[in-house]
Amino acid sequence: MNTTSDVLIIGGGIVGLAIAIELKLRGATVTILSRDFKQAAAHAAAGMLAPQAEGIPLGPMLELCLRSRQLYPNWIRKLEELTGASTGYWPCGILAPVYVADAERTDLREAAAIAQASGTEAQWLDQAVIHQYQAGLGSDVVGGWWFPEDAQVDNRALTQTLWIAAQTLGVNIQDGVSVQAIQQQQRQVASVQTSVGDWQAKHYVLAIGAWSNELLPIPVQPRKGQMLAVQSPDSASGLPLRRVLFGSDLYIVPRQDGRIIIGATSEEVGFTPNNTPAGVQELLARAIRLYPALQDFALQELWWGFRPATLDELPILGASACANLLLATGHYRNGILLAPITAQLIADAIAQQPDPLLEHFSWQRFHQTKPSTPPASLAASSTPAALSSSTHVLPRSNSVLTHAVPALAQADITTLDSPLVIAGRSFRSRLMTGTGKYRSIADMQQSVVASGCEIVTVAVRRVQTKAPGHEGLAEALDWSKIWMLPNTAGCKTAEEAIRVARLGREMAKLLGQEDNNFVKLEVIPDTKYLLPDPIGTLEAAEQLVKEGFAVLPYINADPLLAKRLEEVGCATVMPLGSPIGSGQGIKNAANIQIIIENAQVPVVVDAGLGAPSEAAQAMEMGASALLINTAIAEAQNPVAMAKAMGLAAEAGRLAYLAGRIPVKSHASASSPLTGTITQ
Ligand SMILES: Cc1cc2nc3c(=O)[nH]c(=O)nc-3n(C[C@H](O)[C@H](O)[C@H](O)COP(=O)(O)OP(=O)(O)OC[C@H]3O[C@@H](n4cnc5c(N)ncnc54)[C@H](O)[C@@H]3O)c2cc1C
Repeated sequence: MNTTSDVLIIGGGIVGLAIAIELKLRGATVTILSRDFKQAAAHAAAGMLAPQAEGIPLGPMLELCLRSRQLYPNWIRKLEELTGASTGYWPCGILAPVYVADAERTDLREAAAIAQASGTEAQWLDQAVIHQYQAGLGSDVVGGWWFPEDAQVDNRALTQTLWIAAQTLGVNIQDGVSVQAIQQQQRQVASVQTSVGDWQAKHYVLAIGAWSNELLPIPVQPRKGQMLAVQSPDSASGLPLRRVLFGSDLYIVPRQDGRIIIGATSEEVGFTPNNTPAGVQELLARAIRLYPALQDFALQELWWGFRPATLDELPILGASACANLLLATGHYRNGILLAPITAQLIADAIAQQPDPLLEHFSWQRFHQTKPSTPPASLAASSTPAALSSSTHVLPRSNSVLTHAVPALAQADITTLDSPLVIAGRSFRSRLMTGTGKYRSIADMQQSVVASGCEIVTVAVRRVQTKAPGHEGLAEALDWSKIWMLPNTAGCKTAEEAIRVARLGREMAKLLGQEDNNFVKLEVIPDTKYLLPDPIGTLEAAEQLVKEGFAVLPYINADPLLAKRLEEVGCATVMPLGSPIGSGQGIKNAANIQIIIENAQVPVVVDAGLGAPSEAAQAMEMGASALLINTAIAEAQNPVAMAKAMGLAAEAGRLAYLAGRIPVKSHASASSPLTGTITQ
């Protein structure tokens, strides 16, 4: 274990470095763990300091940006003095020309109104004035806004300067060290696990930009931007461009050395690398339209980078679910601009003097319970015992359920049965359900209640990214009553699954299940049949068991694999009945039977069950539990089907415990003449 310093910063991009320097200047000892300095978006950016040209509306974000822009001159002066390096800071102003088609651009008009309200300067230039002010603009430019206080910095030079400043001040920078997991205990970070062992500190700061949700379940996603640079020709009359041009979906940023930066695309393609012909073509076409002379300048460089985008495009700053962990991420398009204010606010927060502005950027805004939580009447009856005797109000009419289903006496079952025990935790229900594929959150909430299940599996990746159909899922269930089973759906390799499992554990903690170490392990490289990879599953299971997880692996019905997984310490095995979502029922009954006969851990039949009869069949075979999602979520009436599946699981279990009669080849009368009770 490396015990480091007062503060350990994860991530050595512009945000991590700026915070480290601020803390160091205030007297703290600081360590930065940085996976790859060159990977940082800070190198890829354009370096505009453009709260006004960006059209940020009045509100806390504008206040944050303006405060940061104001800090810039002094911040730069200090850094340059400390290092002797130049950052290319240039308060050159930003010109935002508009075209005929864009003449009604309300965003820029609003920008002027905002400027007035926020006490900043903005000037409208009409057609004649703008062409006089900036020679060489495209002929279809009809006017534009001039924001004299917006500025630019050479972000590559600045990032390098920050690095040198941090080293000069004695920050311990460990480049090439990747943090793999944040270990939490009782809402405190205990240590971080890295590629070179564990590290400990008093305080931790997460500043890993677009990669943030690899370590914590916070909704930060990469937004790719492609960029290019041209070199303006030498000219006796000096630089042809002396201010930033901020056009429609394009900006042109001239540096003082004649290099001109052109950007940027905005693409939701994950971490897909490289420049593309389409991206470059789009940028060049727009740039040449705005400033035609560029077409003859020497093309110098192409590159790309990943902005850390949140769902509301605002940064995540300040406290986290752990008392000693602060978040400084999600700066999206404005991380260069926001570096100085972020450093100041995070250092204040560590000094227990949090600025009130931080409240607006709390991570909790993504985890607030929505008003669409289950109706109180349903939530109140969410235990299986309550369900078995309650009559539910169903959203759709369903003749099967308009008359009361005779209540199964829970007591009768419990005298015959013992609870389902997984990793030392007891459950009365033997049906687990999921949250995916429902037509609405309300359907999902009511189905979970109707099924009587106590374990609900949640796709960590989809929930944390709020993928379509998964928005608000994590908040929609009452996790004080339902045990969360985070799953690694969407992971194609063991490494991915391990990472997502760690995130799942954090997600469960964030939602109040501090001691939840369960993970439903899915490693599925095959996209057509969604069949799990046995080798990847075994590898991931071994690692996760070592890390203290209760692993519930999803597998093909392979008895030998099931045994191996049990041997490495898995808490259950979860053989599939047939391919996920296929509704084909149990296609491999013989193998499942062997798994059940040999297993010393619960066997949960997962996937492929389409009807309650199939659910009952699996339980009659001796399965310990079932996991059913699609058959419920996609039924015409999911709530009714959920109830039916719950009953089927109970019926099948009871039948298994009761012991079915043997199959005979001959008839045997129902009212025999021998052996009747005479008195
Ligand atoms: C094309 C483009 C143009 C932009 N233009 C502008 C602009 O004009 N003005 C502006 O203000 N902003 C701009 N931005 C946005 C700005 O670059 C980002 O908001 C900013 O760089 C985010 O800083 P960061 O330190 O949070 O993340 P980054 O700068 O991306 O740094 C994150 C660092 O964390 C490291 N890391 C990741 N995972 C781990 C781990 N597990 N363990 C240890 N280290 C890890 C990475 O290797 C990386 O070095 C632009 C961005 C792009 C992509």
